[in-house]
Amino acid sequence: MLPIETIKFCTRCGHAMELREESERVRPVCPRCGYVHYFAPQVAAVAIVTRTDDEKFLLVQRGEDPGKGLWGLPGGFVEMGETVYDALTREILEETGYEIEIGNLVGVWSFFNDAKKIAGVALVYETRVVRGELQIASDSTNAEWITYELAQEFSIAFETHREALRVWNESKT
Ligand SMILES: [Zn+2]
Repeated sequence: MLPIETIKFCTRCGHAMELREESERVRPVCPRCGYVHYFAPQVAAVAIVTRTDDEKFLLVQRGEDPGKGLWGLPGGFVEMGETVYDALTREILEETGYEIEIGNLVGVWSFFNDAKKIAGVALVYETRVVRGELQIASDSTNAEWITYELAQEFSIAFETHREALRVWNESKT
């Protein structure tokens, strides 16, 4: 099923939606009230979490799909009303138990997840733990502090994360 076919009913008036060309693309349109459903990429804030004592960073093992059982960088989607910084701070605290300070932007990547039919833009930041203890949240099953070299032996769920780590590692040397 295409993403545009998942919008069956108008979120404004409840009428059945139709697929129609609107602003140069086929989109779900409500024939009763005229509401057009636009699909836009979601914005994700992602952290390379570091600490002062060594050169390691945090990888988390994913407890949920996409990528269940594989490893990735912690982070999540920016909610309405949040800044990217708010979202990153919240997500890292929820997922790892750490309060962080946010440093340099490592890069910005577009991504497409065919299984979930979502498209997004990931902003990856270097961050540093300022306080807290590692507490793994329900959507992760494990977490490891590892070096960049060791990370090469882990199955990373998303190409975006692997690429971000590569860029980050190069920036340090
Ligand atoms: Zn409508």
